[in-house]
Amino acid sequence: MAGSKQQRHRQAGSEYAAQAKRAQAPWRWMALAALGVAAALTAPAPARAADAYPTRPITMVVPFAAGGPTDVVARTMAAAMSKTLGQSVVVENRLGAGGTVSAAYVAKAAPDGYTILIHHNGMATAPALYSKLPYKPLTDFSFVGQVADVPMTLLGRHDLPARTLPELIAYIRQNQGKVNLANAGLGAVSQLCGMLFQKAIGVELTAIPYQGTAPAMTALLGSQVDILCDQTTQTLPHIKADKVKLYGVTTSTRIKALPDTATLAESGLKGFEVKVWHGIYAPHGTPPAVIDRLNGALRTALKDPAVAARLADLGAEIVPQDKQTPEGLRTWLQSEIEKWSPIIKAAGVKAD
Ligand code: ASP
Repeated sequence: MAGSKQQRHRQAGSEYAAQAKRAQAPWRWMALAALGVAAALTAPAPARAADAYPTRPITMVVPFAAGGPTDVVARTMAAAMSKTLGQSVVVENRLGAGGTVSAAYVAKAAPDGYTILIHHNGMATAPALYSKLPYKPLTDFSFVGQVADVPMTLLGRHDLPARTLPELIAYIRQNQGKVNLANAGLGAVSQLCGMLFQKAIGVELTAIPYQGTAPAMTALLGSQVDILCDQTTQTLPHIKADKVKLYGVTTSTRIKALPDTATLAESGLKGFEVKVWHGIYAPHGTPPAVIDRLNGALRTALKDPAVAARLADLGAEIVPQDKQTPEGLRTWLQSEIEKWSPIIKAAGVKAD
């Protein structure tokens, strides 16, 4: 029968193939062994791959909207670091959940130095806010170093009747339930600042979350929201152009960029202090040689007078050299987690 004939042919064919395979086996083995030796000699061992790093563009993931404060610092650093690294550092904005979407993405990226993250205090506040955080800030990353600290400013829409902080507090008390506050989601520094402000005045505001404070600022400028607490890296030009009401700075002392503006603490909110810090991270397990290259590029960028001038212009302050290191970032992050977790828990703010 045709069918069984075909089957026999197939059987014979496969038997032949098996015999041929057995006959070839020693040769194949030797050829493979030779190939293996050649591969070992020519293919880059992990250490050599790290030495050659980077051979292609690097992606710097930014957790908030383009044009906002984190993005501004990221783009300044990406451009400067690419000069030292000899490859472009491409900024990618991955938005959502107060910065945790980006952090989760980088935590799970290949640990090869081609995907890195820039993030702020949100790295330290997220564990207290999210009970199902899909990454562990201290163990799921390799640390590159800290970059710069940025003060925040408490602003109101330009047509808000209150002109000073005490007037703002009185206005909020008179309009309970009607005043809203924009932020960049739970885990954003705007949310942290807003949370501390509400706690300090003992009144709850309606939070309006955005994917970053760039769109939140657009809403404030358009009087669609009432209050926003945001970094000087974005707010200074609007303050100088008199497009917003300024109620104070969030640092413990006055800042160079706004010497005549009182701190919130000075104006009555005792102990009020938020300073935004930025760190650069890689996925955990990134080879030390790669981290060295990234850290060298970070430190060189921070020595670049053009970078220093740009950051100073935006009210940012480059961190001291001991913080520009992997260990400087790791120990700082740990201390910030320890500082903010009990405060957030006591405030009863939760994302889930
Ligand atoms: N300033 C924002 C924050 O509140 C983030 C941003 O858009 O850069 O965290």
